[in-house]
Amino acid sequence: MSALAIERAVAINAVLRASKVCQKVFQNLVTSDTVIKKDGSPVTVADFSAQAVVNRILYESFPNDPIVGEEESGSLRGDSGKELRNKVLSLVNTVLDTPLNDNELLETIDRGNFPGGSSGRMWTLDPIDGTMGFLRGEQFCVGLALIIDGEVHLGVLGCPFFPVDLKAPEGERGCLFIAIKGQGAFQRKFSSTEETQICFADISSPSAASFCESVVAEHSSHGDAAKIASLLGITKPPLRMDSMCKYCAVARGDADIYLRLPVRIDYEENIWDHAAGCILIKEAGGVVSDINNKPLDFSLGRTLKTNKGVVVAHSKIHGQVIDAVQQVILKK
Ligand code: AMP
Ligand code: MG
Repeated sequence: MSALAIERAVAINAVLRASKVCQKVFQNLVTSDTVIKKDGSPVTVADFSAQAVVNRILYESFPNDPIVGEEESGSLRGDSGKELRNKVLSLVNTVLDTPLNDNELLETIDRGNFPGGSSGRMWTLDPIDGTMGFLRGEQFCVGLALIIDGEVHLGVLGCPFFPVDLKAPEGERGCLFIAIKGQGAFQRKFSSTEETQICFADISSPSAASFCESVVAEHSSHGDAAKIASLLGITKPPLRMDSMCKYCAVARGDADIYLRLPVRIDYEENIWDHAAGCILIKEAGGVVSDINNKPLDFSLGRTLKTNKGVVVAHSKIHGQVIDAVQQVILKK
């Protein structure tokens, strides 16, 4: 059996079930299901439910593996959290084989509170990456990765609204992306278990490239990206997309470069926003670094403390992209 085969199967099952939960919530999305987190981003029933589903499925197979998950159960507790808690519980129990009770639900969500670090195994989960995309009915994903001794070994991304073929956006949607260190990157449709290997589009000059960036300009500077594109001679308009779906788009050759350019100097990227995407890129033949050409370091806790931004490109052009990024950032 190949390395991490059981982990791969369990992670796929967890991500597919969590994706199903998100799709159900989307169908019934009403504003009252949205609460505001401390950082102002909207959190829905779906975030909590997806985290509960993934954490529970991981727990059933790997009870000793810690999890670094985005959500915590605070707003589901007590009388004030009862309405939301009941909605989450009934949703979670539609996709789990063994139903949870109230306490198990809260405990399961809070299994995601691991502080992270450099030794041993840990999973990291973004139950819904790209909440803004989710609320708009655009791109979002469930992102799960296994980190061993500070290095990402497995990544699974469930992208319920991602077109199977980006050139046919009205066609079938729903893609799962899977990567294991040393084993390649794969895609499958939600509607099938057949997997196809994916890789970067071949490119030799950055001027022919297209690049991806966030829809939300507060997450990545659109102005700096336009300057970098101009320096590189890029003429194609940016492909704007929420969530780690950007990593998926580049990994399968829909675009060539992903730029995430810091807007706030004090912002630390979360490991769950990048771990699964990072291994997908490497296994599809690309290079991932931060804006200073440093590798992303997943061994330092819940955030990428020593990194700023993200730059992804084919190895043939990554160096040139970094040079352009440095020129624009240093000029500021
Ligand atoms: P995206 O959909 O690529 O724009 O990224 C969504 C992610 O951006 C969310 O999961 C947040 O964790 C993260 N985020 C929040 N604030 C910032 C910020 N100031 N800079 C970069 N990313 C952020
Ligand atoms: Mg996220």
